[in-house]
Amino acid sequence: MSDIEARLDDLRASGLYRRMRHVSGPQGSRVVLDGRPVLLLCSNNYLGLADHPRVREAAADAAMRWGAGAGASRLVSGTMTIHRRLEEALATFKGTESSVLFGSGYLANLGVVGALARLGGAGGPSGSVVFSDELNHASIIDGCRLARAETFVYDHCDVEHLAWGLRHKLGPPNHRAGVIVTDSVFSMDGDVAPLEEIVELAHRHGVRTVVDEAHGTGCLGPGGRGAVADAGLEGHVDVVVGTLGKALGAYGAFAACSAEMRDYLTNSARSLIFSTALPPPAVAAALAALEVLQEHPEMVDRLQANADAIRDELAREGFEVAGSSTQIVPLVVGDADLAMRVCETAIEGGVFAQAIRPPTVPDGTSRLRLALMATHTREELRAAARTLGRAALQAGFRPGAGVPVAAAQPAGHPEERVVAPLAGEDTAAAAA
Ligand code: PMP
Repeated sequence: MSDIEARLDDLRASGLYRRMRHVSGPQGSRVVLDGRPVLLLCSNNYLGLADHPRVREAAADAAMRWGAGAGASRLVSGTMTIHRRLEEALATFKGTESSVLFGSGYLANLGVVGALARLGGAGGPSGSVVFSDELNHASIIDGCRLARAETFVYDHCDVEHLAWGLRHKLGPPNHRAGVIVTDSVFSMDGDVAPLEEIVELAHRHGVRTVVDEAHGTGCLGPGGRGAVADAGLEGHVDVVVGTLGKALGAYGAFAACSAEMRDYLTNSARSLIFSTALPPPAVAAALAALEVLQEHPEMVDRLQANADAIRDELAREGFEVAGSSTQIVPLVVGDADLAMRVCETAIEGGVFAQAIRPPTVPDGTSRLRLALMATHTREELRAAARTLGRAALQAGFRPGAGVPVAAAQPAGHPEERVVAPLAGEDTAAAAA
Protein backbone atom coordinates (compact mmCIF):
# COMPACT_ATOMS: atom_id res chain seq x y z
CA MET A 1 0.00 0.00 0.00
CA SER A 2 1.39 3.43 -0.93
CA ASP A 3 1.77 6.13 1.71
CA ILE A 4 -0.98 8.06 -0.07
CA GLU A 5 -3.40 5.12 0.11
CA ALA A 6 -2.50 4.63 3.76
CA ARG A 7 -3.21 8.28 4.51
CA LEU A 8 -6.54 8.15 2.67
CA ASP A 9 -7.46 4.99 4.61
CA ASP A 10 -6.67 6.78 7.87
CA LEU A 11 -8.96 9.62 6.86
CA ARG A 12 -11.75 7.16 6.00
CA ALA A 13 -11.30 5.33 9.31
CA SER A 14 -11.54 8.56 11.31
CA GLY A 15 -14.59 9.85 9.41
CA LEU A 16 -12.59 12.71 7.89
CA TYR A 17 -12.39 11.59 4.26
CA ARG A 18 -13.58 14.29 1.85
CA ARG A 19 -15.00 14.07 -1.62
CA MET A 20 -16.57 16.59 -3.95
CA ARG A 21 -20.23 16.18 -4.73
CA HIS A 22 -21.55 16.93 -8.19
CA VAL A 23 -23.98 19.78 -8.75
CA SER A 24 -25.74 20.21 -12.09
CA GLY A 25 -26.76 23.71 -13.18
CA PRO A 26 -26.07 27.04 -11.46
CA GLN A 27 -25.76 27.61 -7.69
CA GLY A 28 -29.37 28.58 -7.05
CA SER A 29 -31.34 27.95 -3.85
CA ARG A 30 -32.32 24.57 -5.30
CA VAL A 31 -29.82 22.37 -7.10
CA VAL A 32 -29.53 18.86 -8.48
CA LEU A 33 -26.94 17.14 -6.29
CA ASP A 34 -25.48 13.87 -7.56
CA GLY A 35 -28.70 13.50 -9.57
CA ARG A 36 -31.09 14.32 -6.70
CA PRO A 37 -33.04 17.65 -6.44
CA VAL A 38 -32.31 19.28 -3.08
CA LEU A 39 -32.68 22.57 -1.26
CA LEU A 40 -29.20 24.09 -1.09
CA LEU A 41 -28.53 25.16 2.50
CA CYS A 42 -24.75 25.47 2.50
CA SER A 43 -23.76 27.93 -0.20
CA ASN A 44 -22.21 31.32 0.53
CA ASN A 45 -24.15 32.74 -2.43
CA TYR A 46 -26.17 34.47 0.29
CA LEU A 47 -28.07 36.94 -1.88
CA GLY A 48 -28.59 34.57 -4.78
CA LEU A 49 -26.56 36.87 -7.04
CA ALA A 50 -24.33 34.17 -8.59
CA ASP A 51 -27.03 33.40 -11.12
CA HIS A 52 -28.82 36.77 -11.16
CA PRO A 53 -29.57 37.71 -14.80
CA ARG A 54 -27.85 41.11 -14.57
CA VAL A 55 -24.74 39.62 -13.01
CA ARG A 56 -24.54 36.88 -15.65
CA GLU A 57 -25.02 39.38 -18.44
CA ALA A 58 -22.31 41.65 -17.06
CA ALA A 59 -19.88 38.71 -16.98
CA ALA A 60 -20.77 37.71 -20.54
CA ASP A 61 -20.48 41.30 -21.84
CA ALA A 62 -17.11 41.75 -20.12
CA ALA A 63 -15.82 38.57 -21.72
CA MET A 64 -16.76 39.97 -25.13
CA ARG A 65 -15.37 43.43 -24.41
CA TRP A 66 -12.20 42.71 -22.41
CA GLY A 67 -11.58 39.01 -22.92
CA ALA A 68 -11.58 35.96 -20.69
CA GLY A 69 -8.37 36.57 -18.78
CA ALA A 70 -6.19 39.35 -17.42
CA GLY A 71 -2.97 37.93 -18.80
CA ALA A 72 -0.59 38.59 -15.91
CA SER A 73 -0.20 40.27 -12.57
CA ARG A 74 -1.39 43.88 -12.71
CA LEU A 75 2.12 44.94 -11.76
CA VAL A 76 3.36 43.34 -14.94
CA SER A 77 0.82 43.85 -17.71
CA GLY A 78 -1.20 46.67 -16.17
CA THR A 79 -4.50 47.35 -14.50
CA MET A 80 -7.51 47.04 -16.76
CA THR A 81 -10.29 49.63 -16.81
CA ILE A 82 -12.72 47.20 -15.20
CA HIS A 83 -10.37 46.54 -12.23
CA ARG A 84 -10.21 50.28 -11.53
CA ARG A 85 -13.97 50.66 -11.73
CA LEU A 86 -14.61 47.89 -9.26
CA GLU A 87 -11.96 49.16 -6.85
CA GLU A 88 -13.55 52.62 -6.85
CA ALA A 89 -17.03 51.17 -6.31
CA LEU A 90 -15.83 48.93 -3.45
CA ALA A 91 -14.04 51.81 -1.70
CA THR A 92 -17.22 53.90 -1.89
CA PHE A 93 -19.32 50.96 -0.64
CA LYS A 94 -16.98 50.30 2.29
CA GLY A 95 -16.48 54.00 3.13
CA THR A 96 -12.71 53.91 2.62
CA GLU A 97 -10.38 56.09 0.61
CA SER A 98 -9.24 53.24 -1.58
CA SER A 99 -9.34 49.51 -2.23
CA VAL A 100 -7.25 46.91 -4.03
CA LEU A 101 -8.36 43.63 -5.60
CA PHE A 102 -6.91 40.21 -4.85
CA GLY A 103 -7.36 36.87 -6.63
CA SER A 104 -9.44 35.40 -3.79
CA GLY A 105 -10.17 35.86 -0.09
CA TYR A 106 -7.55 33.26 0.69
CA LEU A 107 -4.95 35.23 -1.27
CA ALA A 108 -6.09 38.54 0.25
CA ASN A 109 -5.61 37.32 3.82
CA LEU A 110 -2.29 35.72 2.97
CA GLY A 111 -1.08 38.95 1.37
CA VAL A 112 -2.48 41.44 3.87
CA VAL A 113 -1.44 39.57 7.01
CA GLY A 114 2.03 38.92 5.60
CA ALA A 115 2.51 42.52 4.52
CA LEU A 116 1.42 43.95 7.86
CA ALA A 117 3.40 41.39 9.86
CA ARG A 118 6.57 42.56 8.14
CA LEU A 119 6.04 46.17 9.26
CA GLY A 120 7.88 47.38 12.32
CA GLY A 121 11.15 45.68 11.43
CA ALA A 122 12.75 43.19 9.12
CA GLY A 123 10.51 40.28 10.13
CA GLY A 124 10.98 37.67 12.86
CA PRO A 125 11.20 39.12 16.36
CA SER A 126 11.47 42.69 15.11
CA GLY A 127 8.38 42.50 12.83
CA SER A 128 4.83 43.04 14.06
CA VAL A 129 3.22 40.75 16.59
CA VAL A 130 -0.01 39.37 15.10
CA PHE A 131 -2.94 38.98 17.50
CA SER A 132 -5.36 36.48 16.01
CA ASP A 133 -8.71 35.04 17.18
CA GLU A 134 -8.48 31.28 17.64
CA LEU A 135 -11.39 30.67 15.26
CA ASN A 136 -10.09 32.87 12.45
CA HIS A 137 -10.27 31.49 8.93
CA ALA A 138 -7.51 29.16 7.69
CA SER A 139 -6.24 31.83 5.29
CA ILE A 140 -5.45 34.13 8.23
CA ILE A 141 -3.72 31.29 10.06
CA ASP A 142 -1.72 30.49 6.92
CA GLY A 143 -0.91 34.20 6.52
CA CYS A 144 0.63 34.18 10.02
CA ARG A 145 2.55 30.99 9.27
CA LEU A 146 3.87 32.13 5.92
CA ALA A 147 4.99 35.45 7.35
CA ARG A 148 6.72 33.58 10.21
CA ALA A 149 5.05 36.18 12.35
CA GLU A 150 5.12 36.01 16.11
CA THR A 151 1.47 35.20 16.67
CA PHE A 152 -0.56 35.53 19.83
CA VAL A 153 -3.75 33.51 19.49
CA TYR A 154 -6.46 34.83 21.77
CA ASP A 155 -9.46 32.84 22.96
CA HIS A 156 -12.45 33.19 20.70
CA CYS A 157 -13.89 36.72 20.93
CA ASP A 158 -12.24 37.11 24.35
CA VAL A 159 -11.22 40.78 24.56
CA GLU A 160 -9.75 40.31 28.03
CA HIS A 161 -7.38 37.67 26.72
CA LEU A 162 -6.56 39.93 23.77
CA ALA A 163 -5.87 42.84 26.15
CA TRP A 164 -3.58 40.56 28.19
CA GLY A 165 -1.69 39.63 25.04
CA LEU A 166 -1.33 43.27 23.99
CA ARG A 167 0.03 44.18 27.43
CA HIS A 168 2.53 41.31 27.53
CA LYS A 169 3.69 40.89 23.95
CA LEU A 170 4.33 44.42 22.77
CA GLY A 171 6.83 45.47 25.39
CA PRO A 172 7.34 49.14 26.31
CA PRO A 173 5.36 51.75 24.31
CA ASN A 174 6.52 52.01 20.66
CA HIS A 175 8.81 48.99 21.12
CA ARG A 176 7.01 46.48 18.86
CA ALA A 177 4.43 47.03 16.14
CA GLY A 178 1.29 44.92 16.31
CA VAL A 179 -1.75 43.99 14.26
CA ILE A 180 -5.03 42.49 15.45
CA VAL A 181 -6.70 40.23 12.87
CA THR A 182 -10.23 38.91 13.18
CA ASP A 183 -13.06 37.56 11.07
CA SER A 184 -16.09 39.81 11.50
CA VAL A 185 -18.63 37.01 11.06
CA PHE A 186 -17.05 33.68 11.99
CA SER A 187 -17.49 31.35 9.09
CA MET A 188 -18.34 28.16 10.99
CA ASP A 189 -20.28 29.59 13.95
CA GLY A 190 -22.12 32.60 12.58
CA ASP A 191 -21.24 34.78 15.56
CA VAL A 192 -19.84 38.31 15.24
CA ALA A 193 -16.53 39.57 16.65
CA PRO A 194 -16.68 42.28 19.36
CA LEU A 195 -15.39 44.84 16.89
CA GLU A 196 -15.94 47.95 19.01
CA GLU A 197 -13.84 46.60 21.86
CA ILE A 198 -11.19 45.30 19.48
CA VAL A 199 -10.84 48.67 17.72
CA GLU A 200 -10.79 50.45 21.07
CA LEU A 201 -7.97 48.17 22.30
CA ALA A 202 -6.08 48.67 19.05
CA HIS A 203 -6.24 52.44 19.42
CA ARG A 204 -5.18 52.26 23.05
CA HIS A 205 -2.15 50.09 22.23
CA GLY A 206 -1.28 51.78 18.93
CA VAL A 207 -1.64 48.64 16.82
CA ARG A 208 -3.31 48.11 13.45
CA THR A 209 -6.49 46.17 12.75
CA VAL A 210 -7.52 43.85 9.93
CA VAL A 211 -11.14 42.68 9.78
CA ASP A 212 -12.10 39.89 7.40
CA GLU A 213 -15.63 40.65 6.20
CA ALA A 214 -15.89 37.58 3.95
CA HIS A 215 -19.25 36.74 5.55
CA GLY A 216 -20.20 40.28 6.56
CA THR A 217 -20.05 41.96 3.16
CA GLY A 218 -23.50 42.00 1.60
CA CYS A 219 -25.01 40.30 4.65
CA LEU A 220 -24.94 42.68 7.61
CA GLY A 221 -25.06 46.34 8.40
CA PRO A 222 -26.69 49.26 6.60
CA GLY A 223 -27.20 48.29 2.94
CA GLY A 224 -25.08 45.16 3.47
CA ARG A 225 -21.94 47.23 4.06
CA GLY A 226 -20.79 44.73 6.68
CA ALA A 227 -20.26 44.30 10.41
CA VAL A 228 -17.70 47.12 10.55
CA ALA A 229 -20.31 49.55 9.23
CA ASP A 230 -22.93 48.00 11.51
CA ALA A 231 -20.73 48.82 14.50
CA GLY A 232 -20.22 52.41 13.23
CA LEU A 233 -16.51 51.74 12.68
CA GLU A 234 -16.09 52.73 9.05
CA GLY A 235 -12.76 54.53 8.78
CA HIS A 236 -11.51 53.04 12.07
CA VAL A 237 -10.19 49.72 10.75
CA ASP A 238 -6.88 49.73 8.88
CA VAL A 239 -7.77 47.01 6.39
CA VAL A 240 -11.19 45.52 5.74
CA VAL A 241 -10.92 42.36 3.64
CA GLY A 242 -14.01 41.41 1.67
CA THR A 243 -14.70 38.63 -0.79
CA LEU A 244 -16.47 38.75 -4.14
CA GLY A 245 -17.27 35.03 -4.28
CA LYS A 246 -19.85 34.91 -1.52
CA ALA A 247 -22.69 37.46 -1.21
CA LEU A 248 -21.43 39.23 -4.33
CA GLY A 249 -21.85 36.04 -6.35
CA ALA A 250 -18.63 36.23 -8.42
CA TYR A 251 -15.03 35.45 -7.53
CA GLY A 252 -12.10 37.32 -6.02
CA ALA A 253 -11.56 39.61 -3.07
CA PHE A 254 -10.47 43.07 -2.02
CA ALA A 255 -8.79 45.02 0.73
CA ALA A 256 -10.55 48.31 1.53
CA CYS A 257 -8.13 50.76 3.13
CA SER A 258 -6.41 54.14 2.89
CA ALA A 259 -4.56 55.17 -0.28
CA GLU A 260 -1.28 54.83 1.63
CA MET A 261 -2.12 51.29 2.72
CA ARG A 262 -3.13 50.38 -0.83
CA ASP A 263 0.23 51.66 -2.02
CA TYR A 264 2.00 49.60 0.62
CA LEU A 265 0.02 46.44 -0.21
CA THR A 266 0.74 46.93 -3.91
CA ASN A 267 4.42 46.96 -3.03
CA SER A 268 4.53 44.19 -0.48
CA ALA A 269 1.54 41.78 -0.62
CA ARG A 270 3.16 38.85 -2.39
CA SER A 271 -0.13 37.15 -3.29
CA LEU A 272 -1.04 40.33 -5.21
CA ILE A 273 2.33 40.93 -6.81
CA PHE A 274 3.03 37.36 -7.92
CA SER A 275 -0.41 36.25 -9.10
CA THR A 276 -2.44 36.90 -12.24
CA ALA A 277 -5.10 39.61 -11.90
CA LEU A 278 -8.79 38.73 -11.66
CA PRO A 279 -10.37 37.91 -15.03
CA PRO A 280 -12.62 40.64 -16.49
CA PRO A 281 -15.84 38.54 -16.38
CA ALA A 282 -15.45 37.96 -12.62
CA VAL A 283 -14.70 41.65 -12.03
CA ALA A 284 -17.68 42.82 -14.09
CA ALA A 285 -19.96 40.29 -12.38
CA ALA A 286 -18.94 41.59 -8.95
CA LEU A 287 -19.49 45.18 -10.08
CA ALA A 288 -22.98 44.34 -11.35
CA ALA A 289 -23.74 42.43 -8.13
CA LEU A 290 -22.70 45.44 -6.09
CA GLU A 291 -25.05 47.63 -8.15
CA VAL A 292 -27.93 45.19 -7.66
CA LEU A 293 -27.24 45.13 -3.91
CA GLN A 294 -27.18 48.93 -3.71
CA GLU A 295 -30.45 49.19 -5.65
CA HIS A 296 -32.07 46.44 -3.56
CA PRO A 297 -30.85 46.67 0.04
CA GLU A 298 -34.02 44.83 1.05
CA MET A 299 -32.24 41.62 -0.03
CA VAL A 300 -30.09 41.93 3.09
CA ASP A 301 -33.17 42.21 5.30
CA ARG A 302 -34.66 39.16 3.61
CA LEU A 303 -31.48 37.18 4.25
CA GLN A 304 -31.44 38.04 7.94
CA ALA A 305 -35.19 37.43 8.26
CA ASN A 306 -34.66 33.99 6.71
CA ALA A 307 -31.89 33.29 9.23
CA ASP A 308 -34.19 34.31 12.11
CA ALA A 309 -36.96 32.15 10.67
CA ILE A 310 -34.87 28.98 10.36
CA ARG A 311 -33.42 29.49 13.85
CA ASP A 312 -36.97 29.58 15.22
CA GLU A 313 -37.95 26.47 13.27
CA LEU A 314 -34.79 24.60 14.29
CA ALA A 315 -35.23 25.54 17.95
CA ARG A 316 -38.73 24.03 17.68
CA GLU A 317 -37.07 20.80 16.48
CA GLY A 318 -34.88 20.88 19.59
CA PHE A 319 -31.64 22.16 18.01
CA GLU A 320 -29.38 24.52 19.95
CA VAL A 321 -28.91 27.53 17.66
CA ALA A 322 -28.52 30.44 20.07
CA GLY A 323 -24.83 31.02 19.28
CA SER A 324 -25.53 32.31 15.77
CA SER A 325 -26.86 35.78 15.08
CA THR A 326 -26.27 35.84 11.33
CA GLN A 327 -27.02 33.94 8.11
CA ILE A 328 -24.64 31.13 9.19
CA VAL A 329 -26.33 28.67 11.53
CA PRO A 330 -24.30 25.70 12.81
CA LEU A 331 -25.99 22.52 14.02
CA VAL A 332 -23.22 21.08 16.17
CA VAL A 333 -23.32 17.27 16.25
CA GLY A 334 -19.87 16.54 17.75
CA ASP A 335 -18.62 13.30 16.23
CA ALA A 336 -17.42 13.51 12.61
CA ASP A 337 -18.99 10.21 11.46
CA LEU A 338 -22.29 11.05 13.08
CA ALA A 339 -22.31 14.50 11.45
CA MET A 340 -21.75 12.83 8.05
CA ARG A 341 -24.62 10.42 8.71
CA VAL A 342 -26.98 13.29 9.59
CA CYS A 343 -25.85 15.11 6.44
CA GLU A 344 -26.40 12.06 4.17
CA THR A 345 -29.80 11.35 5.72
CA ALA A 346 -30.86 14.97 5.21
CA ILE A 347 -29.80 14.79 1.57
CA GLU A 348 -32.01 11.73 1.13
CA GLY A 349 -34.81 13.92 2.53
CA GLY A 350 -34.02 16.66 -0.02
CA VAL A 351 -31.91 19.08 2.08
CA PHE A 352 -28.23 19.65 1.44
CA ALA A 353 -26.31 21.08 4.40
CA GLN A 354 -22.71 19.92 4.17
CA ALA A 355 -21.14 18.37 7.27
CA ILE A 356 -18.05 20.30 8.35
CA ARG A 357 -15.37 18.33 10.17
CA PRO A 358 -11.86 18.87 11.55
CA PRO A 359 -9.53 20.47 10.70
CA THR A 360 -12.03 23.06 9.44
CA VAL A 361 -13.64 23.06 12.89
CA PRO A 362 -12.23 22.00 16.28
CA ASP A 363 -12.15 18.30 17.18
CA GLY A 364 -15.41 17.09 18.63
CA THR A 365 -17.49 19.90 17.09
CA SER A 366 -18.33 18.47 13.66
CA ARG A 367 -21.48 20.11 12.47
CA LEU A 368 -23.90 20.83 9.71
CA ARG A 369 -23.16 24.41 8.73
CA LEU A 370 -26.36 25.93 7.39
CA ALA A 371 -25.93 28.97 5.17
CA LEU A 372 -29.11 30.86 4.41
CA MET A 373 -29.96 32.63 1.18
CA ALA A 374 -32.23 35.64 0.64
CA THR A 375 -33.92 33.59 -2.09
CA HIS A 376 -35.07 30.74 0.16
CA THR A 377 -38.80 30.84 0.85
CA ARG A 378 -40.31 30.53 4.32
CA GLU A 379 -42.07 27.34 3.30
CA GLU A 380 -38.78 25.83 2.11
CA LEU A 381 -37.11 26.72 5.40
CA ARG A 382 -39.96 25.35 7.50
CA ALA A 383 -39.83 22.06 5.61
CA ALA A 384 -36.02 21.99 5.78
CA ALA A 385 -36.01 22.34 9.57
CA ARG A 386 -38.42 19.41 9.85
CA THR A 387 -36.29 17.33 7.49
CA LEU A 388 -33.15 18.13 9.50
CA GLY A 389 -34.87 17.21 12.77
CA ARG A 390 -36.00 13.87 11.33
CA ALA A 391 -32.60 13.21 9.73
CA ALA A 392 -30.83 13.82 13.02
CA LEU A 393 -33.03 11.33 14.87
CA GLN A 394 -32.79 8.71 12.10
CA ALA A 395 -28.99 9.04 12.09
CA GLY A 396 -28.89 8.55 15.87
CA PHE A 397 -28.37 12.15 17.00
CA ARG A 398 -30.71 13.86 19.41
CA PRO A 399 -31.01 17.54 18.35
CA GLY A 400 -29.45 19.82 20.94
CA ALA A 401 -27.09 17.14 22.28
CA GLY A 402 -24.02 18.53 20.48
CA VAL A 403 -20.92 19.78 22.27
CA PRO A 404 -21.20 23.52 22.92
CA VAL A 405 -18.78 25.21 20.58
CA ALA A 406 -17.11 27.25 23.29
CA ALA A 407 -16.26 24.09 25.28
CA ALA A 408 -14.38 22.41 22.46
CA GLN A 409 -10.71 22.53 21.58
CA PRO A 410 -9.99 24.96 18.76
CA ALA A 411 -8.53 23.69 15.50
CA GLY A 412 -6.78 26.88 14.48
CA HIS A 413 -3.13 27.81 14.84
CA PRO A 414 -2.05 24.50 16.40
CA GLU A 415 1.63 25.34 16.72
CA GLU A 416 1.04 28.94 17.68
CA ARG A 417 -1.71 28.07 20.13
CA VAL A 418 -1.55 30.02 23.32
CA VAL A 419 -3.23 28.65 26.39
CA ALA A 420 -5.14 31.24 28.40
CA PRO A 421 -2.70 32.75 30.87
CA LEU A 422 -2.71 31.31 34.36
CA ALA A 423 -2.11 33.67 37.24
CA GLY A 424 0.71 35.79 35.87
CA GLU A 425 2.27 32.97 33.89
CA ASP A 426 3.50 33.89 30.41
CA THR A 427 2.28 31.02 28.26
CA ALA A 428 2.47 32.75 24.88
CA ALA A 429 4.32 30.80 22.22
CA ALA A 430 6.08 32.28 19.21
CA ALA A 431 5.27 30.76 15.84
CA ALA A 432 7.96 28.69 14.24
N1 PMP B 1 -12.15 34.44 4.94
C1 PMP B 1 -13.19 33.74 5.42
C2 PMP B 1 -13.72 34.11 6.77
C3 PMP B 1 -13.75 32.71 4.67
O1 PMP B 1 -14.78 32.01 5.17
C4 PMP B 1 -13.23 32.42 3.40
C5 PMP B 1 -13.81 31.34 2.48
N2 PMP B 1 -14.54 30.38 3.01
C6 PMP B 1 -12.13 33.14 2.95
C7 PMP B 1 -11.63 34.16 3.73
C8 PMP B 1 -11.51 32.84 1.63
O2 PMP B 1 -12.22 33.44 0.60
P1 PMP B 1 -12.17 32.86 -0.89
O3 PMP B 1 -13.13 31.73 -0.92
O4 PMP B 1 -12.53 34.01 -1.75
O5 PMP B 1 -10.75 32.40 -1.12
